[in-house]
Amino acid sequence: MIYPIVKFGDPVLEKPAAPITVFDDELRKLVDDMFESMYAAHGVGLAAPQIGISKRVAVIDVTFKEDPEAKIVLVNPEIIHTEGRLTSNEGCLSLPEFREKVTRPSKVTARAQNAEGKTFEVTGDDLLARALVHETDHLNGNLYINYISALKRDLIKRKVRKLMKEGEW
Ligand SMILES: [Zn+2]
Repeated sequence: MIYPIVKFGDPVLEKPAAPITVFDDELRKLVDDMFESMYAAHGVGLAAPQIGISKRVAVIDVTFKEDPEAKIVLVNPEIIHTEGRLTSNEGCLSLPEFREKVTRPSKVTARAQNAEGKTFEVTGDDLLARALVHETDHLNGNLYINYISALKRDLIKRKVRKLMKEGEW
């Protein structure tokens, strides 16, 4: 099932999501639906709050279907190591059309559980590093615009309010 993507302005995006404690078929269905919804929205990462579900689940595929092995399911993820810095354009499915330069660690290790509840670690560079911190941030109610200048953030918020008023958001 393809869920619509929740856009910035919805409070679900800015509150911490609840930990997953039950690893059942319902969770695996949610993960499948999240991949489907992410691909439909042309994204490389999606967190459950972005489909209105405040649970600590995220999916990533930085290859966008090229490599089935690249599909990553993160349940209850934590960032356990970061190094380096890399400034690059970043966007978010919940803030369509906007992109800003954001400085992130260039190498990130996350510890998470998979859909069966097994704990694993994943380390990524560049785009994967960025996706790991971006999606884990979502589960803490944190959006990338919190890392840009207040001036740029206010500009985005103003544009979003205008689009909302026009019924375009
Ligand atoms: Zn995002």
